[in-house]
Amino acid sequence: VTQPLRVAGETNVGRVRTTNEDALVVEPGAGLYAVFDGMGGANAGDVASRTAADAVRDVVLRNPQIDPRALLDSAIQAASASIFHAAAAHREHHGMGTTVVAAIVVSPERVVIGHVGDSRAYLLRGGRLQALTRDHTIVEDLVDRGLLPPEEAERHPYKNVLSRNLGSRPDARVDLNDVVLRPGDRLLLCSDGLYGYASAEAIQYLLGSGDDPQHVARDLIDLAMRGGGGDNVSTIVIEVPAPAPTSGEVVRTAGAMQWWGQRARFLAAAKERGLARNPMVRGLPPDEALELVALSLCQAIYHDLEKATGVNVWTFAQNLAGGWFERGGEFGPVRAMVDILGASARIVLDELREREPAVGFLVDVAVSRALVVAELALGGLLAERLRQVDEHLIELHRTLPVADPSGMTAPVSATAVRTDEIPLGDSGERFIDRPTIPFLRPERSVTNPGVSAELLGAIGKVITIARARTAPRQELQKQVLAALETIATDSAGSFGAAVIAARDLYGVRSVDEQGVMPLFDALDHARILVAAGVQQVQLTPVVRTRSMRALSYAHQRLVSACTGLVLEAVAPYGERLGEVQKVTGEMRAQVEKAERRRADLEHKFATIVDPELPWGSRGETEW
Ligand code: CA
Repeated sequence: VTQPLRVAGETNVGRVRTTNEDALVVEPGAGLYAVFDGMGGANAGDVASRTAADAVRDVVLRNPQIDPRALLDSAIQAASASIFHAAAAHREHHGMGTTVVAAIVVSPERVVIGHVGDSRAYLLRGGRLQALTRDHTIVEDLVDRGLLPPEEAERHPYKNVLSRNLGSRPDARVDLNDVVLRPGDRLLLCSDGLYGYASAEAIQYLLGSGDDPQHVARDLIDLAMRGGGGDNVSTIVIEVPAPAPTSGEVVRTAGAMQWWGQRARFLAAAKERGLARNPMVRGLPPDEALELVALSLCQAIYHDLEKATGVNVWTFAQNLAGGWFERGGEFGPVRAMVDILGASARIVLDELREREPAVGFLVDVAVSRALVVAELALGGLLAERLRQVDEHLIELHRTLPVADPSGMTAPVSATAVRTDEIPLGDSGERFIDRPTIPFLRPERSVTNPGVSAELLGAIGKVITIARARTAPRQELQKQVLAALETIATDSAGSFGAAVIAARDLYGVRSVDEQGVMPLFDALDHARILVAAGVQQVQLTPVVRTRSMRALSYAHQRLVSACTGLVLEAVAPYGERLGEVQKVTGEMRAQVEKAERRRADLEHKFATIVDPELPWGSRGETEW
């Protein structure tokens, strides 16, 4: 007996438009699913997509006996005719049209896809996303005919102009595609409001998350919203039932259960380590704090273990740290929180391995990987935050009032402001007090072209002032300032100076001893001192701006290089993962051997059973 298909459809107006001109058809009884994206002024797009949806639904539901391929073709033709005639009859609807991507799921083994325009169908198989449709746009047609290189298509001014739609003619040229399905496949039908605002990687990630279609359809909409939500967005997710669990999945589920069984121990360990006292959960009763953070992570790891994804832990880390940063929080508490969670997980894993070496081993690998995923998610957030701070900094220095050497002071712009007087948010914190965080960005020249003697002198003066303001025993800060001067005045302008300086600063410390916080704190503080120093030195406006830029880039490079070293220090975890995978490989081989033996036995059993008997056959497939 086959499980029923799981299907979900969602549509949303988006964050910019006022009306939703997309339409959906979800008819599980007929196996019919479709997305329409209407176009045309004065709500005509809405009329077009709904007219087409009604026509397609009508034709398919009334003619179940017709071959699905021919049926889908004629249903889409009929939709085009309906719109064409409606537009001819109503002046205000003249020129309206719609795209369509429609699927008739004939059986768990076969689907027919028909489409016109740029709404798409995707197939997720074995974790990989493949496009089942090719957009009917002028640009795609040019690429197809070899008249435009594919890399130019993405930024072509006409990339959104359709070469085919429904409604401009009484008939339509429909592309039909027969696809053989496999158990566990997932189909996605969507409008360009999804893929125009979300990367293929992110779509693949969510579609492969193992969550049920209802959640995936909604999460995909959220994804487009986070990408700007500039258009109506529609998604239909269709899941072909998965095969019976493999031995690997059974082992994985056992591991997930083991981990979940230890949640009380995990919470206790996190409590002992002071999770409830972390500033991120200040104001919450300790039990709620533990539940909010530790239990949520425990759950996220459990779901990722069960489904062999990392999406839950990734989302957990992003929500936790993202919310904190949005409230103006600092990096320190986030680092401390992640350390507490990691150390608490370690305690649970060590105990588990002691008691049950085989399962403990598997859980250890999976949980260690989950913690690396959390670190990566955090790194992504930090990178984004630094990029924003950097943009503000450059913007502010573009509009700074500066002393005119001739004595005739004139602001550079009417809205000019002093950086050290700009309050940030409600806290009254000044711009230059705002902390910096590590980030990575592509190579760019520090001082281009070359470094003038004038600029060298200015940088030297700024660093001297900054150094004079460091506290007596802040050796690390002094070293950072010296490093900044070296990098900013490096005539080669390459990344090399930053890497060498970072190695000196970082020393041979490992991530889990004292941690990297003192170093990143010193980097932060040095940036504040330098920003203040640039304001204090007597410089011409041009040299002031140039030295600010040179020092700002030098700082970014130094932070990037330090971050690179931290990531390198985490690398042994990756090696450990490799070792463990080798062992699990051996285990898997044993399981496979056992499975072959079982299959042999089943075969022997099947051959002595009369296939005419009801329990000897496989039964009717319910669809
Ligand atoms: Ca659209």
